Amino acid sequence: MKAVNKKYIIICYSTSEMLNADRAIKSKGIHTDLVPTPSEYGTICSTSIAIAAEDRQLVENTLAENNLDFKEIHPYESRKLSGLIERLKSNITTQTFKDIMNKIQEGLDITKDEITYLLKTESKSEIDGIFTAADQMRKEVVGDVVEIRGAIEFSNYCKKSCNYCGIRKGCTVPGRYRMEEEEIMEGVHQLHGWGIKTVILQSGEDDYYSTETLVNLIKRIKDETKMMITLSIGERPFADYEILREAGANNFLLKIETTNKDIFNFIHPDDDFDERVRCSEWLRQLGYVNGSGNMIGLPGQTPEDIAKDILYFKDMAIHMIGIGPFIPAKGTPFESYPQGSVEMTLRVVAVTRLVCKNVFLPATTALASIDPDGQTKALQAGANTIMLISTPSKYRSNYQIYSNKNMIDLKSAFKAVEESGRKLPKYLKITSEEVL
Ligand code: SF4
Repeated sequence: MKAVNKKYIIICYSTSEMLNADRAIKSKGIHTDLVPTPSEYGTICSTSIAIAAEDRQLVENTLAENNLDFKEIHPYESRKLSGLIERLKSNITTQTFKDIMNKIQEGLDITKDEITYLLKTESKSEIDGIFTAADQMRKEVVGDVVEIRGAIEFSNYCKKSCNYCGIRKGCTVPGRYRMEEEEIMEGVHQLHGWGIKTVILQSGEDDYYSTETLVNLIKRIKDETKMMITLSIGERPFADYEILREAGANNFLLKIETTNKDIFNFIHPDDDFDERVRCSEWLRQLGYVNGSGNMIGLPGQTPEDIAKDILYFKDMAIHMIGIGPFIPAKGTPFESYPQGSVEMTLRVVAVTRLVCKNVFLPATTALASIDPDGQTKALQAGANTIMLISTPSKYRSNYQIYSNKNMIDLKSAFKAVEESGRKLPKYLKITSEEVL
């Protein structure tokens, strides 16, 4: 077994300083990885630079030469999973699987081919072993508490026509709606009253909401509740992302859906793959906690494509990764395509936890929509977050990106947490007795 390479992690004062430092280091031909900053070092900058120990002196010299300051440097060890091979004794049937699990046990990175192997193996005992390893990784890096967030889908208007989407432009939706500020704030206050710390403001790509309107909303949420704000409003110019970040938005969810360019273009007739990646890079540069995700079971998608998606999440230092099955939506060009499988989606969740480690992995609404136990299963496969749908009931049924969407509420979230043997966060002001 190869020894674990010693690494250091460089923590900067801000994301832009971190990105400048990363560029300067890379310009010397030194390899770096961007990794989520370990929680023990605080949240000064949510992404840090990992370097090999032997490069430390050269890196420090390079930063000094370029007048680039950094806050701290610490020894950094990729998370090991001690005792994993022993635990998986009865699951190991091939040398390949054993070698991959050995690397995970020792904290070594696994390759695209090895990720693909984990996604392709048909051995029941190896598949069970993947879930066991992912659950151990989840427990050791993010613990047993399930993060609960609330989503308000404030507009189902969209100027784009993604072929899979039930609210695409031109799709007959029974009722298009837009929520005004007061109505959105009612939902925000309800979540705040339950003790929830993060609100997700989600919509189609709807220019009705100008940057100014969104800034006013963000400032009001901050003033009245101090909640963390996640935006999920699609592609916008850099300047808009910057203004929204400065106004107080903390996180941004912009899913890549697939890193296979041909499939990306096929499912997104209005979008350009490189532009989507560029938007994600801007969000990272602006210091958003960066969210992405993919769909499993897209037409033509292979396990190799999914392995590439997982490495994209890692390389882009994505902190929130929404992984859901493709679900055909009525009235769209993809309505008769077969839906993605629950089993493969869960396996992708598990492998993503093993590769990306310290990230938020939601038990997605899409999974719950095709399997009533989907959220419980996802929490047992490495997921650690649940997003409640807090859109007012009169609008909910009109925000159907895919058909038969499950409306995750407090009751179903609490049930999934209980059934999976996990813990509710202490910040909640509402108990399971009041809800169940
Ligand atoms: S997926 Fe998003 S951008 Fe595409 S049509 Fe649906 S709401 Fe619009």
